[in-house]
Amino acid sequence: MTPHHHPDASTLMSYAAGSLPDAIATVVACHVSVCEQCQEAVAEAEQLGRFLMEQQPDAELSKDARAKMLDLLDSVEPDTPDTEKAVEPREANGDIPLPLRSYLGTSFDSLRWKAMVPGMKQFIIPSTQGQLRLLRIASGTSMPIHSHTGSELTMVLKGSYSDELGRFGVGDVADLDPEIQHQPATDTHEDCICLIATDAPLKFTKLVPRLLQPFFRL
Ligand SMILES: [Zn+2]
Repeated sequence: MTPHHHPDASTLMSYAAGSLPDAIATVVACHVSVCEQCQEAVAEAEQLGRFLMEQQPDAELSKDARAKMLDLLDSVEPDTPDTEKAVEPREANGDIPLPLRSYLGTSFDSLRWKAMVPGMKQFIIPSTQGQLRLLRIASGTSMPIHSHTGSELTMVLKGSYSDELGRFGVGDVADLDPEIQHQPATDTHEDCICLIATDAPLKFTKLVPRLLQPFFRL
């Protein structure tokens, strides 16, 4: 699997610095576990963090130190996506990313999914900061159009969907700003399962989904 959509460079930097809310950090960890490009970006960001720590006693960076830091910052930007790289092989029956397996096991079908509306089921994963859940969208289903009051990070774990931003398959991450309004729809014959972290509730544009929101903890 070579993901085509990655977390923003700033999200990877915050992840490396350990400053993301845990729901969002879990999604980044799942993506990084299958994306060599982002593994490298995180390793470089950690290196940059260490470098900055070492510079701490001096208030001003020397010219040389500044140049080194800028070099490192440049290298944190993800590479072009066309580099085909091997990623760590996942275990057989490994639909569920490694960072979630101790909690969820290996099979989506053994989870106690809760029906939300026809065609959509969810499974809430406890988190201390933000909300983390799995969403299972039946083939041929569209989510209600919505925007966000905070950040949302979504990783596709099974199947695929398309929205205004493109097509997202297994391993891909959508890193959404609050301004983005979108309407994801599954686009193959199989269910699409996504891992979604939000740091604030979604904001529905239409009245009915808005009324349903409290019932479904969307
Ligand atoms: Zn990536």
